[in-house]
Amino acid sequence: MAHLPRGRALAAAADRHADGDRTEEWEAVGFNIPVAEFCKVETPVAVGPDLLAVEIDIDECVQRLRVLADAEIAEALLNQRAVSGIGNIWKSETLWACRVSPFARMASVGDEKLREIVVTARKLLRQSVASTSRSRFAVYGRRGEPCRRCGTVIEMRRQGPDARVTYWCPRCQLQ
Ligand SMILES: [Zn+2]
Repeated sequence: MAHLPRGRALAAAADRHADGDRTEEWEAVGFNIPVAEFCKVETPVAVGPDLLAVEIDIDECVQRLRVLADAEIAEALLNQRAVSGIGNIWKSETLWACRVSPFARMASVGDEKLREIVVTARKLLRQSVASTSRSRFAVYGRRGEPCRRCGTVIEMRRQGPDARVTYWCPRCQLQ
């Protein structure tokens, strides 16, 4: 991952092409980007169903998540090979809505609950397209504030190998 000042990212990508080191690994398109994250693309990546698509197969999403049996649920939801479209915000929001602990192992989450999680994520994602107000978040960015369901203080922890922030209510997300 490279953090470069605005403009440098594209220059770095262009340099690779200019010196003949064209490996098809890099493709950068962006305007006015403050931070660029580059990652090596391993070929070919099978991306999971897009939760924002008009029609999706919920059962396929559940099956693809099931493959990640050893993963913590919040990590699994970020895995774009299982389902695509869930970012860090909606990971936390979805699990709060479904009362599931972000640290629950996939294997401990039943099929019915997993289905509910996928359906809820899809609903929240589709709603989010219409609005960008931060105040609508139930847990994300609300560390130290009261849970809107039970009043318990919302907690935050960094989770997984990429240390992505996870917000949750320790009282009503016990599963
Ligand atoms: Zn709560």
